[in-house]
Amino acid sequence: MSQSNIGNQIKAIDEQLGSKAKLVAVSKFHPADAIREAYAAGQRIFGENRAQEMVAKYEELKNELTDISWHFIGSLQRNKVKYIIPFVSLIQSVSSIKLLDEIERQAAKYDRKVDVLLEVHVAEEDTKSGFSEQEAFEAVGLIINHPEQYAHINLRGLMTMATNTDDEQQIRTEFRKVATLFNKIKDEIKPFDFNQLSMGMSGDYPIALAEGATLIRIGTSIFGEREY
Ligand SMILES: *Cc1c(COP(=O)(O)O)cnc(C)c1O
Repeated sequence: MSQSNIGNQIKAIDEQLGSKAKLVAVSKFHPADAIREAYAAGQRIFGENRAQEMVAKYEELKNELTDISWHFIGSLQRNKVKYIIPFVSLIQSVSSIKLLDEIERQAAKYDRKVDVLLEVHVAEEDTKSGFSEQEAFEAVGLIINHPEQYAHINLRGLMTMATNTDDEQQIRTEFRKVATLFNKIKDEIKPFDFNQLSMGMSGDYPIALAEGATLIRIGTSIFGEREY
């Protein structure tokens, strides 16, 4: 996709999302110039899935595009947390308590309170990570019941990825499971500021939107195919 199309794609997707959900432009594997193009079209939230790549883009753009929100959406190694903590606005992919504990430790060092989502695993693929629904429910309880232990964490909601399949009914069922869990947590545990449900990518975001997503993560439909 030529870069002049980036802005048009963003506007078209934004129109579909309306006020229901915010667009996270997934810029992984695309250069900083692609981010500049999207920024010029009004996009402010960008998602990356590798710590080093996100840090490099942040460093390149920080004095130029000062109001970007950087969302981390990939599997995060604990030894990389310290590199992104100074500037990340939302870590969407918290997949274990051990990782959460490291985020707390590093956020405390930098005297920041960091927004996070818990990643829930409902897809078929074992390669996708995250908490089971039951584990996620228990993790929220743990965090909420130990505010002193998680003083530098703002738990904002849940994130998930559906199975990579053409079976729309299966995708819908998976998104609905996580939306149901999200609402159950809101009703029963009532965490403060727990209002973000991140689900949907280029191939399945209309379903995610219909099932209640508030954050949609789109790469390919904005920036074109990635070259790995
Ligand atoms: C890459 C990625 C996306 C975007 O996927 P597209 O199919 O390119 O829209 C969304 N979420 C996560 C977690 C990703 O790693």
